[in-house]
Amino acid sequence: MSEKLKPCPLPWCRGKAELLDHGVKCSKCGLVAPGSPVSLKHAQQMALEKWNHRPLEQEMLEALKRAEEFIENGIEYGYIAMPDAPDPALETPNIIEKAIAKAEGKA
Ligand SMILES: [Zn+2]
Repeated sequence: MSEKLKPCPLPWCRGKAELLDHGVKCSKCGLVAPGSPVSLKHAQQMALEKWNHRPLEQEMLEALKRAEEFIENGIEYGYIAMPDAPDPALETPNIIEKAIAKAEGKA
């Protein structure tokens, strides 16, 4: 089983997850995603998929990527005019880029 475990899905926890015999458990808050009792390997795989499946997170990441592309294209093709420094809006593309990298586990 090579799929990496994501941190705890609870925003106030984000603890490290551990793979148990029949489930996945947050080592910080104790949240458990149980697997199925069919077989040990099957139960672990089920638990891991349940633990890692986060439709809202996926949706937000997709939306963020589209926003990033929209802004990049807008600047390049001139339909978005960036403000002059020191406007905090200038940081927006960097903030989006960092959030995407974080959500993809690259930062
Ligand atoms: Zn937790």
